[in-house]
Formats: sequence, structure tokens, C-alpha cells
Amino acid sequence: MHYKFCPECGAKLVDRQAGDDGAVPYCGACNRFWFDSFSSCVIVMVVNELQEIALLHQSYISDEYDTFVAGFMTPGESAEQAAVREVKEELGLTVDELEYAGTHWFDKREQLMHAFIGYVRKAPFALSQEVDSASWVSVADAPGRMFPDRPGNTQHIIYRQYCKSIKRVHAGDDLHYNQQR
Ligand SMILES: [Zn+2]
Repeated sequence: MHYKFCPECGAKLVDRQAGDDGAVPYCGACNRFWFDSFSSCVIVMVVNELQEIALLHQSYISDEYDTFVAGFMTPGESAEQAAVREVKEELGLTVDELEYAGTHWFDKREQLMHAFIGYVRKAPFALSQEVDSASWVSVADAPGRMFPDRPGNTQHIIYRQYCKSIKRVHAGDDLHYNQQR
């Protein structure tokens, strides 16, 4: 979001040089710059010990495609804490281990997505009201139910990272994973 008025006092902002950042909207009354802001969100591909992926059906997002666990970060928590919290809230599952899958800009909604793979033990779901249904789907079948693989789609970025890690495990060089499982 690009600010035109001060969110604190409502005054019209004027562009002012802010060092290396160039012209930035500034409120003279509050003596404060208002840099462009955006939401930070987490997206978590939840997988179990049988290498099944949790796909969520959320009709308020899409009737056609299935989603991963996702949500807004709240002030004061880390992306990792938000990821664990969202998995608990949406699916009722406890994350044993998180694997980082980078940050990705979601242009359509101006959100920075912090991506993770969340490893859990297979258990019955306890769904939040935001989730219509959820199911465990094999690695092979999951892409057919995910959003199409286009630039800006974080689902497939996480999915591909998981597929690579499965190959490493099969090659026997991922000691950490082998000890955990
Ligand atoms: Zn102000």
C-alpha cells in the first residue's frame, strides 16, 4: 500500500527525500515517513510420515482448486510461530518440524508469503470454520488439485522443494530427516 494520507493524523503526505530510499511520503505534523507497506503471510504445505500432503478445500478462496494452510502473521510473532499456529488452527495438527521454503511475493494481493513445509504425524483433522474440508493426498496426485503452476503461485514452489527433499532422503544423504523419521 502506498500512503497518500497520514494513517495517524489524516494529513496529506508530501514526498520527501529519505536517504538511499529516495522520495517517500512524509507527514510534517507527525514528523514521520510512511514507507509503502504490505502484509506478511505464511503458507505451509503440511505433509505426513506417509508422504501425503494435506489439501484444504476453502470455497471462499476457490471452488475449483485446493489450498495449503495459509494466514496473516500477527505483530510480535515470527514467521515460524505463525506457521505452527496456522496449522494448528486450520487443521488441528501439531507441526513436528518446519522446513523453510523461502519468501515469495504474491503480486495479486501485495503480500509477502513466507513459505514452509510442515511435517506432522498423520492424524484426523480438526478443521477450523474457514476450512470446508481437507484430505490427505499422495505426492503424485496433489498437483492435479492445486492451483495451476504459474509465476506467482507459491504452492508449486514449495511442492517442488519437497519433491527434491524426498529424492535426497532416498539417496540417503539427508541425515537430519532420517534421524527425525
Ligand atoms: Zn500525521
